[in-house]
Amino acid sequence: MSPFAFDALLHQYGRSVIYVKRNLQFRCSCYVERSGEATLNCYKCLGTGYVTELIKWNVRSRQGNIPLSMPNAFEFTSMGHFGNEAHIYYSAPSLTPAIGDYVLEVQWDKERPMRIMQKMIISFVDPKMFEQNELLFYQSYARKMVVNEGDDHILQRY
Ligand SMILES: [Zn+2]
Repeated sequence: MSPFAFDALLHQYGRSVIYVKRNLQFRCSCYVERSGEATLNCYKCLGTGYVTELIKWNVRSRQGNIPLSMPNAFEFTSMGHFGNEAHIYYSAPSLTPAIGDYVLEVQWDKERPMRIMQKMIISFVDPKMFEQNELLFYQSYARKMVVNEGDDHILQRY
């Protein structure tokens, strides 16, 4: 299978989620430099503290557990915020997933995201290569986060 064929496969059999991409160059206006804190349910950044961009993301996914062999995957568990259960997302190379970005499982009304069903945070990204040098697809592990009251407001920016 080529990367091109994977894209076509997702187009046919994938589903849409909202990818919340953080721009690590720019802080959100809610971020307080002195305390290093962001507003938890900020409608612009969802508490990430960075300027964000909402992107429609075509994925396939399944439930799974984060393998023990993944070194970075457990940094998050030490914080005690996350369960062991993960969503594993398969996505095309057109968007590079990054640890700490969010994935929103949303209810769609045609092309409009209406409500956040699940909020996930990417905790590990495993790029899958084709014949050693060409990126075929991304396999990303994401953990469930608490959906805060008011989080839905961010969808208006889509
Ligand atoms: Zn903010």
